[in-house]
Amino acid sequence: MKSTPKLQTELQARQALIEQALSLDRLGINHGKSGNLSLRWHRSSPPQGQGLLITPSAIAYEALEAEDLVWLSLHDDPPRIDGKLKPSSEWQMHRDLLRARPDCMAVVHTHSLYATALSCMPKVQREGIPAFHYMVAASGADRIACADYAGFGTAALSEAMLRALGSEARACLLAHHGVIASGEDLAAALGLAKEVEMLAAMYSQCLSLGGPALLSQEAMDAVLKAFVGYRQANQVACEASSSE
Ligand SMILES: [Zn+2]
Repeated sequence: MKSTPKLQTELQARQALIEQALSLDRLGINHGKSGNLSLRWHRSSPPQGQGLLITPSAIAYEALEAEDLVWLSLHDDPPRIDGKLKPSSEWQMHRDLLRARPDCMAVVHTHSLYATALSCMPKVQREGIPAFHYMVAASGADRIACADYAGFGTAALSEAMLRALGSEARACLLAHHGVIASGEDLAAALGLAKEVEMLAAMYSQCLSLGGPALLSQEAMDAVLKAFVGYRQANQVACEASSSE
């Protein structure tokens, strides 16, 4: 997936967020109005400070206008909110993930079919999606963990998500709920949400065939190392092309 072009103005950021929200539908990983997206966005004019832009609650993406997105401050409790609509009911997971992980710029949350189905399975709630395929390492960890169940929109859900992500993972399942993914830009976060859904579909198939063999820790460590190198090289290439 192409990386998101460098965003210069808040209007560009709002338009990019809407564009990616629409592609969530096109990729088939959204379910009704359940998906939501956010993008780190720091403001220099009032209300100013470190913050994020997020999709509003209960509005179809095809009806979204740039002014419908909501800005939240990152470090105030409760956050300062600027917008004419209410932010997504899951704003706390988005805010807390962006607060905890300065390397992540964007967050996508969906109830995509296979990831959500697996999040209801006791085995997956205990073990996550294990290293049955090397692309599991695209999540930043050697398995895709599943956060303990907590009610939607609660601080407890956000805390469970942060525990499941740990210090390295960029995506996790949420028990009896869905999936959350993050990335260095909107395209990366969306690409990872799509990848997790694909892996969840494959793993479901493997479970129905009797369960997969798993890769060794050594094999996964090698893939994780390769992916870190790939991300760094990509970052350098992006920075070089944006400074041209
Ligand atoms: Zn949800």
